[in-house]
Amino acid sequence: MEHQELYGKIAQRLDTLAKFPKVKEEKPVSALLEENGISRRDFMKWAAGMTAMFSLPATFTPLMAQAAELTDRLPVIWLHMAECTGCSESLLRTDAPTIDNLIFDHISLEYHETIMAAAGWQAEQNLEDAIKKYKGKYILMVEGGIPAGSSEFYLTVGPHGKKGAEHARDAAASAAAIFAIGTCSSFGGVQAANPNPTNAKPLSKITNKPVINVPGCPPSEKNIVGNVLHYILFGTLPALDAYNRPKWAYGIRIHDLCERRGRFDAGEFVQQFGDEGAKKGYCLYKVGCKGPYTFNNCSRERFNQHTSWPVQAGHGCIGCSEPDFWDNMGTFEEPLADKLYSSISADSTADKIGIALLTVTAVGIAAHAAIGAIKKDKQ
Ligand code: SF4
Ligand code: SF4
Repeated sequence: MEHQELYGKIAQRLDTLAKFPKVKEEKPVSALLEENGISRRDFMKWAAGMTAMFSLPATFTPLMAQAAELTDRLPVIWLHMAECTGCSESLLRTDAPTIDNLIFDHISLEYHETIMAAAGWQAEQNLEDAIKKYKGKYILMVEGGIPAGSSEFYLTVGPHGKKGAEHARDAAASAAAIFAIGTCSSFGGVQAANPNPTNAKPLSKITNKPVINVPGCPPSEKNIVGNVLHYILFGTLPALDAYNRPKWAYGIRIHDLCERRGRFDAGEFVQQFGDEGAKKGYCLYKVGCKGPYTFNNCSRERFNQHTSWPVQAGHGCIGCSEPDFWDNMGTFEEPLADKLYSSISADSTADKIGIALLTVTAVGIAAHAAIGAIKKDKQ
């Protein structure tokens, strides 16, 4: 589709949405920004960044800003399953709210156990009411792995003793779009790590409706809010990769945009934390960085208003947005290749095809690292 045609289509969609009644009477985004000392100029800079994140031309920036202002037309139900609430925390930090945090405040959260006032019977009633009232119109976001099958009872929520899996299934049945927020909900996460005592499963194994995975431990606030904005802008689900992750966020490898990539190519590696190489910003591959095997936008978008990210702070990526990373990516501070050579034959339950592919990649990377180091020695 031509850019002009796409622009017209989005503008028309936003105009229609603007005529919808607000889900709740909230302050407009402009007032929220002002209260938090954020200028309109900063907001437009943020909108330009989000536009670039979706690979749209800069001329679409005003549409992105308009979409952010319309997030109060969209009811969101957020369910907690078996998890640490780190994904919610990623969004709800209140000490220094970012524009993403504020936009999330603006979204009409109809149900979110961490931040709503109701508890017990009232909370459960609120959930049922919201599902009924916004049937077919709400976005469902689910955080956490879900004990399944004969183990469903390990997660029993609320006064009716309803299982987490039942809550997730019921809410998914009437949702307009469903997002699994975080690695636990997307792939099972730490709950599903070997030996998975509660038979925890990802959301996609609990409902038969399409689920978009937004993994990360936690996912960045940009990736969570970005999905809501994408839905407002396009009204369709985004293009997905093989693991049902939106390509706009997970289509690039951490390694490819890493600021230490030149060091990797030159064979300059940190050999142990605190050594001379660490002080000089050398590549962290040999102290366990899993950036070469991990698809996410952390090296491009960073965290905390683009301030920093793990590799910049001196620790390798641990591969938190990849399926089964607890089992497959550890030991976190050792190169993956070493671990896979010794464990692949012993681990009969692992996804053999995935691991085999990973091993081939790992061998290639280890060889690259070794050749780089030899070249450097010769120099
Ligand atoms: S291995 Fe890690 S630190 Fe090194 S270049 Fe790749 S992502 Fe960056
Ligand atoms: S850098 Fe790696 S471990 Fe850290 S959040 Fe990104 S994908 Fe997860």
